[in-house]
Amino acid sequence: MQLYNTLSAEERAIMIDDAGQQRLTLSFYAYAKIEDPKKFRDDLFVAWNALDALGRIYVANEGINAQMSIPEENLEAFRATLEVYDFMKGIRLNEAVEHDDHSFLKLTIKVRHKIVADGLNDETFDVTNIGVHLKAKEFNEILDDPNTIVVDFRNHYESEVGHFKNAITPDVETFRESLPIINEQLQNHKEDKNLVMYCTGGIRCEKASAYFKHQGFKNVYQLEGGIINYAKQLKEEGLESKFIGKNFVFDNRLGERITDDIVSQCHQCGKPCDNHTNCENDGCHLLFIQCDECKAAMENCCSSECLEIIHMPLVDQVRLRTGKQVGNKVFRKGKSENLKFKHSGELPETALATAQKPADIRQKIKVKKVLLGKAEHYYVKAQVGQFTIENHELNRGDKILISGPTTGDQQLILDKIIVDGAEIQSAKIGDKVTFEVPFRIRLSDKVYKILE
Ligand SMILES: [Zn+2]
Ligand SMILES: [Zn+2]
Repeated sequence: MQLYNTLSAEERAIMIDDAGQQRLTLSFYAYAKIEDPKKFRDDLFVAWNALDALGRIYVANEGINAQMSIPEENLEAFRATLEVYDFMKGIRLNEAVEHDDHSFLKLTIKVRHKIVADGLNDETFDVTNIGVHLKAKEFNEILDDPNTIVVDFRNHYESEVGHFKNAITPDVETFRESLPIINEQLQNHKEDKNLVMYCTGGIRCEKASAYFKHQGFKNVYQLEGGIINYAKQLKEEGLESKFIGKNFVFDNRLGERITDDIVSQCHQCGKPCDNHTNCENDGCHLLFIQCDECKAAMENCCSSECLEIIHMPLVDQVRLRTGKQVGNKVFRKGKSENLKFKHSGELPETALATAQKPADIRQKIKVKKVLLGKAEHYYVKAQVGQFTIENHELNRGDKILISGPTTGDQQLILDKIIVDGAEIQSAKIGDKVTFEVPFRIRLSDKVYKILE
């Protein structure tokens, strides 16, 4: 029984393009009592892998939280895999407004202690005693009430590119930090104000609303299904959006546009911009906002230090990031002194600019490449690599990409290739090829030929 991915993200991207199917990006969550999360995880993996479902899913004793991409034609079959479980019967699947076939490239289901890191001890309060769920129309109405305080339960990098008008946007990096801050700030309004909250998909508010009710807040409301579901209802019902800007999302799209308003600035030059970038330096991966001009000038880097590093010989780059655990992460959520136009806490209520066209949501230009094969040996030192060619052919002078979770993406041009101890011009399927590399090769590394 296969319980783990057998394809790399690159191979998956190629497969999705070849299959030519439409995919849906969706999310859902459910709080429940799950006795054996490990078994639950394995059962889901088997069922979903068969449906070509991809995504990032967390399961815990307290429930499930899933962000996924599934082939449109498998939607009903996918729903059936959820209906098997009583607590997911009739579950609402939040569909994304903008779909990208590459929103997820792996099926990753992880067993966690909690589905949302809230730092709370569940024994102290009843998580099922939640706030009143509001649909988009009701949410708009309550925002017009002068007695309403609206709080954004997301993090600084999320609220920066889009938020509800007049919302309190805590300057926090994690959900768990925002709970005590807001509790403190609103101490004197436990009875007289409507405490209205929202988050990306609704899951954080389920916990937050129960927490605030437990803290003595009398009138607690939450946006049902979060901003994702709000945006969907705006479209369906033709409602006015009281949310301005973009909804940050945790997949490869990094955000979906809700209104044309751009409320944030390029962190490097200050120009209105709301496109997040993941710093190109594999030893950094800082998430920040960067305009197209700065992207070109800085080559996707967050600082001149990172720009300098990406131009260093690969062997030095690898040495510099030794011991740093950033290689596998999608991005790092910290802040940096170098970014002069980063804002958090107090955010603008009006647009700084209007988005011209539907934003290009793909953050990086894709390199056209074809998979040649995989590494044969693990090497202790940077020196040589041996790969078996399983596809296509490899020629002297080819530009190749070696890619793996620890190695990252490394490009090089081959001026010498060796098969069976002899230097050759061209290697074919089945050949074991050896060539020099300025870094260490891992068994998980794959080699691609770059097509230009
Ligand atoms: Zn800029
Ligand atoms: Zn950087």
